[in-house]
Amino acid sequence: MTSTASQKTTKRAHNFNAGPAVMPQPVLEQVQSELLDYGGRGMSVMEMSHRSKEFEDILNRAESDLRTLLDLPDTYSVLFLQGGAHLQFSMLPMNLLPASASADYILTGAWSQVAIREAEKVGRVRIAASTSGSNFDHVPAQADLPLDPNAAYLHFTSNETIHGVEFPIEPQPPAGVPLVCDASSDILSRPIDATKYGLIYAGAQKNLGPAGVTLVIVRNDLLERVPQKLPVMLDYKLMAQNHSLYNTPPTFAIYIVGLVLRWLIGIGGLTEIARRNGAKAKLVYDRIDSSGGFYRGHARPDSRSRMNVTFRLPGEDLEKQFVKQSEAEGFIGLKGHRSVGGLRASLYNALPLESVEALAQFMAEFQRRNG
Ligand code: PMP
Repeated sequence: MTSTASQKTTKRAHNFNAGPAVMPQPVLEQVQSELLDYGGRGMSVMEMSHRSKEFEDILNRAESDLRTLLDLPDTYSVLFLQGGAHLQFSMLPMNLLPASASADYILTGAWSQVAIREAEKVGRVRIAASTSGSNFDHVPAQADLPLDPNAAYLHFTSNETIHGVEFPIEPQPPAGVPLVCDASSDILSRPIDATKYGLIYAGAQKNLGPAGVTLVIVRNDLLERVPQKLPVMLDYKLMAQNHSLYNTPPTFAIYIVGLVLRWLIGIGGLTEIARRNGAKAKLVYDRIDSSGGFYRGHARPDSRSRMNVTFRLPGEDLEKQFVKQSEAEGFIGLKGHRSVGGLRASLYNALPLESVEALAQFMAEFQRRNG
């Protein structure tokens, strides 16, 4: 691939990285064009005060674009924090899990496992359902969720980045139990009804922008639960009251997230990105399904991730060859996570269809040569 206009010689990889991941090219081009002089100010956004009018506008616009995309009402706060999704694994129970209560977690893969392990260090956790018995190849159906009606919240991981399973629709908590979601790897990939959620968190480095900023969307009534005297950087209420500006936020990362949100709105919002993501995922899954068993998808069809397609080949040697040959042909990031092996193609929002078409073609040729 080559980019347009000023950078005709720039060669872009087919980037299937799981995160940090491919960015929308128009966003990178805009960052480049504004790097030395943002809006005639004679400086880069990274050189500006976080208390400046310019940065305040950037932050406000990012928040309002996010609200537009998700149709998010004023009863929710939007926070731009640091520490990645990992910090949210701890910060969430520190804020919303009182000592008198227990929280329900749905265990569907490597990331919900870490979320549980971290929450257990803070408070009482109950694993409401687990798919570990089938090596995390699906998400449980609502009927298979014996949920605690008194839980402080119900936590789920909408997309398991490592195992490649995704909830087709969010689980329904018992009445009055807030639904909490780690949406790090499928946020803004399709329309959702945000009002079903008490809290959503996501590291930025897959669908939102660069690493270094973490998005938290929280329903305001839950902020009343925040205990007194939490360390300031771990206090949702304080961060909300200060509009993510209690201390110096990751200004440059927030600016880029803002550009990504603008790009998403510009291409037609979540309905259009969902259409594109569906078409991309279908190309790869169709190739797997029509391979006569040469490629074997890890996830059950009803739980397949549209963001991370995980699959195996008939042997580890072939898998190694697949990775090596794909790299030689310009594909990056197809090796599966070290904890599960195999292959993984991450198809985030910004990945162009052409990269996926090229992958599907490579898969067909690789099978023809080795099948
Ligand atoms: N949750 C999910 C679903 C993830 O994919 C990741 C990162 N791959 C994390 C949490 C951890 O994110 P971070 O590295 O930002 O802490």
